Amino acid sequence: EKLKGGLTKTRKDMSNKIENILSSHKKVDDELFEDLEEVLVTADVGAATTMELIDRLKAKVKSEKINDPMEVKELLKDEIKSLMKESVDDNVLSIEPTPAVILVVGVNGVGKTTTIGKLSYSFKKDGKKVLIAAGDTFRAAAIEQLEEWSKRSKVEFVAHNEGADPAAVIYDGIQAAKARKTDVLICDTAGRLHNKSNLMNELNKIFRVVDREFGNATKEILLVLDATTGQNAINQAKVFKEVANITGVVLTKLDGTAKGGVIIALQAELRLPVKLVGIGEGIEDLQPFIIDDFVEAIFG
Ligand code: GDP
Repeated sequence: EKLKGGLTKTRKDMSNKIENILSSHKKVDDELFEDLEEVLVTADVGAATTMELIDRLKAKVKSEKINDPMEVKELLKDEIKSLMKESVDDNVLSIEPTPAVILVVGVNGVGKTTTIGKLSYSFKKDGKKVLIAAGDTFRAAAIEQLEEWSKRSKVEFVAHNEGADPAAVIYDGIQAAKARKTDVLICDTAGRLHNKSNLMNELNKIFRVVDREFGNATKEILLVLDATTGQNAINQAKVFKEVANITGVVLTKLDGTAKGGVIIALQAELRLPVKLVGIGEGIEDLQPFIIDDFVEAIFG
């Protein structure tokens, strides 16, 4: 239900337009498919994924001899679900077996700090021992904000001063996590995208420390993306996919946008499993991503 609330704008935009198209057409023909194509593309589903969906839909309509436009909506939902499911292994954030380490990457402003706060709160609520390591040492404010979140969710916190080596912070975080028998270590990282090779070097240094010092831990590399930025989020995902072995995406700010279709593109085109969605600024506004629920939520 919360997911449905968060997706209100996307649903209004996508579902209403699709309903209008289906009710204004008398038969299932090329014109109808063209109109559907336009809605999907403008909802940030992406050109390639839209084409794939339309092709599958046409094949289904043909094989099942469907003439009533109103029947097309269910078919479209089914095709979106299966395309998304086929594209990734699964959408569940994995912290088992513990200890687990979650490296959080993404550009500044996308909601990285907030996501780490929400995530730590949710693990803590599940009875897990959590530690946050402030690996974004580029901005003093980022370290302070993260510390605020750690206090709010009552989890442990490791930081160095502004300008410190991020890999050194993560190293200390790992040693503390081991010493204190932490279940989940959540590591922030700096997100400066202006220089791809710098970003790659910085992240690789962190990944090496994690592999060397915490090789036995369950590992997730979560990319945080801002849904309101639509195609920009897709472009960021492409860059991060090149520099890191991303295991999952957190899509934030879904509540403020009609661009929820970007999830379909992330999964079907980039084959990145969306694992969590942010649907508000509050500490509880983070939800696991479930494909069926998502598709039902955007189609009303
Ligand atoms: P960072 O620079 O990536 O660490 O971004 P922050 O965590 O500081 O978040 C930037 C802004 O986005 C803040 O004002 C957050 O409250 C807001 N924000 C983060 N996630 C969400 C979300 O899911 N929904 C909404 N509406 N706002 C969010």
